[in-house]
Amino acid sequence: MLIGTDKVVSIDYTLTDDAGDVLDTSAGEAPLLYLHGADNIVPGLERALDGKTTGDEVDVVVEPEDGYGEYVAELVSVVNRDMFEGMDELEVGMEFEAETPDGEGQIVTVVEVDGDDVTIDGNHPLAGERLHFRVTVVDVRDATADELAHGHPHGDDDDHEH
Ligand code: ZN
Repeated sequence: MLIGTDKVVSIDYTLTDDAGDVLDTSAGEAPLLYLHGADNIVPGLERALDGKTTGDEVDVVVEPEDGYGEYVAELVSVVNRDMFEGMDELEVGMEFEAETPDGEGQIVTVVEVDGDDVTIDGNHPLAGERLHFRVTVVDVRDATADELAHGHPHGDDDDHEH
């Protein structure tokens, strides 16, 4: 079966940066499952896997615009600690969901805490990075009606409720 829209695909993958450092990998874990055509993975990788099949190995370099986006300096801002009322501790690396002006949810990361000044960054941690994926296709199957309705694959466990 070939990878295409509405297929559930299992992949083993290793993601490295330009320096060859491993950013993420499925090695030692279960393969990653995703629903093709549903924006579950970055566009550049999804495109590279289109038409591939079980056993295929894919090496692809994904530019930031087809990955996690360019790094946008305007997404970094300094806010007052008051914004985080109810939080006992604020630490660099903490992530929050914020709402953008157009009502979209966006993950922001605390990158600096200086007294009452808290610097937050709305860029994805891998924004601006060129992504080097080495992928092996483990399995391709049709998505179930449930998976298509949810927009993501379901694993083997039956306790999936949402
Ligand atoms: Zn679901």
